[in-house]
Amino acid sequence: MYSQRPLPYAFEALEPYIDARTMEVHYTRHHAGYVAKLNKLLEGHGDLASIDLEILIADLNLLPEELRQPVRDNAGGHLNHSMFWEMLSPEGGGEPMGSLSEQIRRDFGSYANFQNLFTRTALDRFGSGWGWLVVGPAGRLEVISTANQDSPIALGSRPVLGIDLWEHAYYLKYQNRRADYVEAFWHVVNWAKAAEVHGAAVESLVRVRR
Ligand code: MN
Repeated sequence: MYSQRPLPYAFEALEPYIDARTMEVHYTRHHAGYVAKLNKLLEGHGDLASIDLEILIADLNLLPEELRQPVRDNAGGHLNHSMFWEMLSPEGGGEPMGSLSEQIRRDFGSYANFQNLFTRTALDRFGSGWGWLVVGPAGRLEVISTANQDSPIALGSRPVLGIDLWEHAYYLKYQNRRADYVEAFWHVVNWAKAAEVHGAAVESLVRVRR
């Protein structure tokens, strides 16, 4: 059985950038819904229900064919949201630090270039999906977006930072103004967590190459 980790802050902690009601509905209904559906789908597949989620998402062929699409959607939903909550913080905002900051400058030219690219990519995603800063398969930082609940892990990339672009993530406060939501997002980005995840992603690539 999969379950949600507790939200690492109160529903209202990200106000005024992300409102309490959105956080509550998002965590207790949308995210919880993906977890409940995932558990239901894997009922009776005892061995599969205990596989690490990232392994499952990286290789959906482990599953019987009829389960692949619904598991892709709901396991992706669970994993993406689990990461997303930790990528935000009431103490967030500012700019990246340490080796993540250095690699952003190396791969995008500057922090401003990265931020513009990430914002544009988030605004260009048609319909529902996610915007991501990832460590790509070759070790470079890349900005990508995925549709629906698809995870960068299925593409061989490691997510460092993500933004939920489903309307349920912002509609109550921002309605159709996705650009305002993306602008607000920068104020609550947990760069300390991003630096930690980036360090682990780089280290795991180094290990694979050894
Ligand atoms: Mn969501």
